Amino acid sequence: MADLPATIRVSYGTAIALGLREARQEVAPTTAYLLWDPGCRGSCTFCPRAGGNAATDRLSRVAWPEWPWAEVVRRLGERPGPLRRICLQTGWHDSAGAVLPLCIEALRPTGLPLSLTLHPAQIALVDGLLAHGLDHVGIGLDAATAATYSRHKHREWATDWPALTAALERHGPRLEIHLIFGLGDGEREFLATVEAVLARRGLVALFAFTPTGEGGGGPPDLGAWRRVQAFRHLRSRGAITWDGCRFDGAGRLISFGLSPDDLVGRLADGQAFQTAGCPDCNRPFYNERPGGTMFNFPRPLTPEEARQAIADLELAL
Ligand code: SF4
Repeated sequence: MADLPATIRVSYGTAIALGLREARQEVAPTTAYLLWDPGCRGSCTFCPRAGGNAATDRLSRVAWPEWPWAEVVRRLGERPGPLRRICLQTGWHDSAGAVLPLCIEALRPTGLPLSLTLHPAQIALVDGLLAHGLDHVGIGLDAATAATYSRHKHREWATDWPALTAALERHGPRLEIHLIFGLGDGEREFLATVEAVLARRGLVALFAFTPTGEGGGGPPDLGAWRRVQAFRHLRSRGAITWDGCRFDGAGRLISFGLSPDDLVGRLADGQAFQTAGCPDCNRPFYNERPGGTMFNFPRPLTPEEARQAIADLELAL
């Protein structure tokens, strides 16, 4: 029989928000990010935890110190501060089906809505976990085409994509599909997968590829990244359609099918460029170095930042 783990990893920013660590915080997380990973079976090229490397305290750019479960749950319940949601990030592990319901029950007394992330190999757990009281499930699809999925996740798109779309048909708006831009997918093919998720009423959480030394390569082109963000935002709100967008011969998005004034007006509040995903998920500095390029803004943009982000789209406006 499975037991609740004795300890849980907590993102460094979350640890500060909970008073577990003393440090200055440029932007506080509005979701508490926890990590359960006793040794992931996955072998994603970009992940420091791949191949069961549970000893590292890193995931993406973030450090995840370990704390007793009971202490974390108590603080989440007593002084959530800026935290309005919990996201339990999980590795692919054979005991997940037994352990994760225990984690959900242990976190329930905090009263905060709960999200949980799964590796695509464990999509079969989605129905049961949602029925067990989860609010949302994030699925780390990460790559957007069969070629990059095979190269970076070492998995078969032909198996995992149909399972994902079937889950989207059942639970659309409660599923966040995590996609990383910068793994080698072209702009048009990446957006075709974003479109396929949104067309099934699913949600898309965008990540900019973060070089950590494992996966190679650099961060994505900023103009292409901003166009991807704008597409996700405008399409999610029904302001544009796939058929209304135009791409050039190289697959670069050159028109959203809106007049320049209409496009600028719809992007002027900067929301398109803020972190997207579950409600209140802002993931501060998952993709960014403090002071570096803000791929996902973890807070509202200033008017000047919004103007710059629109200029970064590199469209003829
Ligand atoms: S969008 Fe944010 S809160 Fe939702 S599953 Fe992904 S990381 Fe967690």
